[in-house]
Amino acid sequence: MPLERDELRKARKAHRCDGCERTIQPGETYQYLTGMSIDGDFGAWHYHPDCRAWEVRLCRENGLRHDEWMTLFEHVCEGGPLVLDGAPEPVRARFAGVLTEQT
Ligand SMILES: [Zn+2]
Repeated sequence: MPLERDELRKARKAHRCDGCERTIQPGETYQYLTGMSIDGDFGAWHYHPDCRAWEVRLCRENGLRHDEWMTLFEHVCEGGPLVLDGAPEPVRARFAGVLTEQT
């Protein structure tokens, strides 16, 4: 996606990660992005840096461009646990609950 801002920040309050939909705790480092959302509006996103990295990788592997972008959560809902194969352990752990519910 065309981004205006892509930077690492330290959380002063809790945020929800747009990748895994779990909480980014105060004190944790998170990735802050702003730019144009799929709807063409201005958007701002908060991510665990490793969630973001894996989301970008999945979108690239699937050839998804800006207007087809899927969040990590959407990838997992659609593709199941397979999409987390090889993902960093903390990322897999954030989805442990989601994946158990589905199976
Ligand atoms: Zn996350």
